[in-house]
Amino acid sequence: MFWDQEIETLPRPELEQLQLKRLQKTVRRVASQSDYYRQKFADTGVKPSAIKTLADLRRLPFTTSADLRTNYPYGLLVKGKESPIRLHTSSGTTGKPKALFFSRNDIDQSAENIARCLVMAGLGPQDVVQNMMTYGMFTGALVMHYGAEKVGSLVIPAGPGNSEKQLLLMQDFRTTAIHVTPSYALYFADFLEKKGIDPRKDLVLRLAFIGAEPYTEETRRKIEDALGVQVFNCYGLSEMNGPGVAFECAAKAGMHLWEDNFLLEIIDPQTGEPLPDGQTGELVLTTLCREAMPILRYRTRDITAIIPEPCPCGRTHRRLQRITGRSDDMLIIRGANVYPQQIERVLMSIPGLGRNYLIVLEGLDEMTVKVEVSDANFDGQVEHLVRLQNQTMEKLRAEIMVRPKVELVMPGSLPASEGKAKRVIDKRVL
Ligand code: AMP
Ligand code: ZN
Repeated sequence: MFWDQEIETLPRPELEQLQLKRLQKTVRRVASQSDYYRQKFADTGVKPSAIKTLADLRRLPFTTSADLRTNYPYGLLVKGKESPIRLHTSSGTTGKPKALFFSRNDIDQSAENIARCLVMAGLGPQDVVQNMMTYGMFTGALVMHYGAEKVGSLVIPAGPGNSEKQLLLMQDFRTTAIHVTPSYALYFADFLEKKGIDPRKDLVLRLAFIGAEPYTEETRRKIEDALGVQVFNCYGLSEMNGPGVAFECAAKAGMHLWEDNFLLEIIDPQTGEPLPDGQTGELVLTTLCREAMPILRYRTRDITAIIPEPCPCGRTHRRLQRITGRSDDMLIIRGANVYPQQIERVLMSIPGLGRNYLIVLEGLDEMTVKVEVSDANFDGQVEHLVRLQNQTMEKLRAEIMVRPKVELVMPGSLPASEGKAKRVIDKRVL
């Protein structure tokens, strides 16, 4: 099923020609109309006329999240004929947020991208979409909302939280699809289990669009099992419109990135040098259609690889592997490099464990993994708990090469998360 079959299956040579044309136009515009890029081009001696092929992209400077913050609020805005009509922000852990502007066409184009994604996953006008992401400055909910409306589905702007209300909406309006973070999906699964609701019998959910934070294949399976849905991985970031930058097709083997909208590079995060297809590195994106705020070579910090093989679905836009984490997520524990995703993968694959966990780092370099036991598997027998705890510790050690402390806690006792989860608490005194 296609939303725009022609563009989604455009032969690569034509797609690349289109990319080049759009890249040249974008570079010319920012060089003359964005204060930030005009200055940057002057400083680095880049001339828009130097971009003759897609490979010339490498001549352009990177843009980082620090650049966006330093030039807050209006520095990257292009002063065109039309003024922007929407503002979103994306906040990090420190300092000013990043300001992101959308023109009328930008809003429409981001909805087009989402519509492609949703139809690719099998959504149609007969569906009812419950949007359980945060509405507001964050792009996650609104951008998806507009895309689902474009498909013609009935959209419920539920927002996150209040699981009782979510359930009522699902029952009363016969919700068939949800858009939600993996952490809230897991929490909601626990909530349904406690209420004695069997989603397969009591609800008509069939699709879940899940993203906004990294999660593992094991978590996908847990959510699919618990909610009786097909989970589609949805990747995006506010700097590139929000959700719908890349999305899984029915093959569920990587996410197609809409290359008519974004130029895709994978670089070595240390050297900044491009890596060949198939190698893992940092994703760098350039907007090709943005009017209000084009961004060149944005360092996303997200770690992934390009899947170069053609996809059986017939789409020509290349796929990204599941994001394994952010380059700045890496923890160094007693000299070993550890990604929280590795820990999640282990925890989600052990049947006796529940769906919520927290990684606490303290003291000199002590890691404690707190994880809820599964309600269904908890029989209260101490020797079963001890066995589960040892098994978890051994499996974690085999994965991350460091032996963590494992603390099993009661179901429902860790902080619940309705949006993006905070999985790591670092209190080390190093
Ligand atoms: P925001 O700008 O607040 O929307 O956050 C964007 C960031 O969330 C991305 O740069 C990724 O680190 C993360 N993210 C979004 N979607 C996914 C996904 N499907 N898998 C992994 N990480 C994701
Ligand atoms: Zn495909």
